[in-house]
Amino acid sequence: MGNVSVANLREQLRGQVITPDDAGYEDARKVYNAMIDRRPAAVVRPANAGDVIAAVNFARENDLDLAVRGGAHSVPGFGTVDDGVAIDLSGMRGVRVDPARRRARAEGGATWGDFNAATYPFGLATTGGIISTTGVSGLTLGGGIGYLARGFGLSCDNLVSADVVTADGRFLVASEQEHQDLFWALRGGGGNFGVVTSLEFQLHPVKDIYGGPMFFELDDAEAVLRFYREFITDAPEQFGGFPAWQIAPPLPFIPEDRHGEPFLAFVACWAGPLDQGEAALKPLHDVAPVVAEHVGPMPYPALNAAFDALVPPGLQHYWKANFVTELSDDAIAAHLQHGPKVPAVSSTMHLYSINGACHRVGPDETAFAYRDATFAPVIAGMWPDPAQNEANIAWVRDYYDATAPHSEQGGYINFMSGDDQDRIKANYRGNYERLVEVKRRYDPGNLFHVNQNIAP
Ligand SMILES: Cc1cc2nc3c(=O)[nH]c(=O)nc-3n(C[C@H](O)[C@H](O)[C@H](O)COP(=O)(O)OP(=O)(O)OC[C@H]3O[C@@H](n4cnc5c(N)ncnc54)[C@H](O)[C@@H]3O)c2cc1C
Repeated sequence: MGNVSVANLREQLRGQVITPDDAGYEDARKVYNAMIDRRPAAVVRPANAGDVIAAVNFARENDLDLAVRGGAHSVPGFGTVDDGVAIDLSGMRGVRVDPARRRARAEGGATWGDFNAATYPFGLATTGGIISTTGVSGLTLGGGIGYLARGFGLSCDNLVSADVVTADGRFLVASEQEHQDLFWALRGGGGNFGVVTSLEFQLHPVKDIYGGPMFFELDDAEAVLRFYREFITDAPEQFGGFPAWQIAPPLPFIPEDRHGEPFLAFVACWAGPLDQGEAALKPLHDVAPVVAEHVGPMPYPALNAAFDALVPPGLQHYWKANFVTELSDDAIAAHLQHGPKVPAVSSTMHLYSINGACHRVGPDETAFAYRDATFAPVIAGMWPDPAQNEANIAWVRDYYDATAPHSEQGGYINFMSGDDQDRIKANYRGNYERLVEVKRRYDPGNLFHVNQNIAP
């Protein structure tokens, strides 16, 4: 990439172009997963959609690989690329709420923390992720699983429209009214179809919730998992939450002599009337004695940020995932065999439930195909020290190998590793061919290929 063309790009932009000669380059090339160590030729930080158009045209005209970064949380590091252009949307994080229509529009670089902070004062929310630093764009484009999913569907089910810069540099609005094919593909198809510069969501009346984490003894883990399997099939849809293996962090509500020990935690979120919260969580509470808990009424954004400190940027990450329709006894046995060996305080397995409202959307209504899966577990290895890579990756792989035979072939694309590209077809089931058609229409040259790629 010549100096001249970079200078041309800089002249066109309101935002920044950061190259290896610039002071901020080392910071600008970093993504959330510290295992990813790529050196883009330029990191472009657009200030607006016009800047995005210029950056997309620049990458295409110069035949450069192009990566797109929203919240930078991609575990395989799809938000950056060696020797190419990384569009980093972190300068575009505005969120505008329209309380009368119960809608919010987020710019492409907004995080769920940005989003929830903007909607909370109006007593409104939509389905977002579990951690507030995750990007709205990347999470929603892959599907979007979180506390509110059983009640309101996946994040992508709440998407009303998206502004998209396509590979040819056009700016399109995708919705049920315009470019319906693109709108269909964006809801689960990931970053394959263009740069989404803003997303408009349907909101729902959620302000304070009743919930938080409870810690159960490992000896009671089987009972809790079996209870969860039955309970969640027809639990009220205001109930969200998931079991998780968790090494007890040094938090004041956990007895000091238990810090550092593994537990089966359950993180609950009751988004119905607050005065019903205690009763709603009682069946879970009654399964076994709770060793420690931090449960009560709290703002929804507080629960969304409650575990941020456990997973700061800069950890090493390796994740694996499959969808699960029936959680069999054998599957539970595999969880019980591997979960308690969780090797790091940030590592975990979360067994998310995606029934309720998620099941009321047909498998071909959006690109997200697994509408009959009850669970979306993720085995998430997250640890600080690269010297521990081998042991932590082995834990994830062994755990995955033990549960895969009791799971669906496909998994949630946002939980997939870089070594999972051969599973793309399985992830999309019957929607794959239609995704390929849409890809051919909007990105025939596969400019957007740094992702879980749907090849044209
Ligand atoms: C700590 C942590 C917690 C998580 N929790 C959840 C959770 O609760 N629920 C859940 O569903 N997922 C969760 N995830 C997974 C998450 O959905 C994916 O990692 C997702 O890709 C993150 O989006 P991002 O914008 O932060 O990431 P980025 O790395 O910025 O983006 C990932 C990919 O998404 C695409 N993309 C991002 N922004 C745009 C855009 N504006 N336009 C076009 N394409 C774009 C690109 O292909 C990009 O490479 C979590 C991940 C982490 C690391």
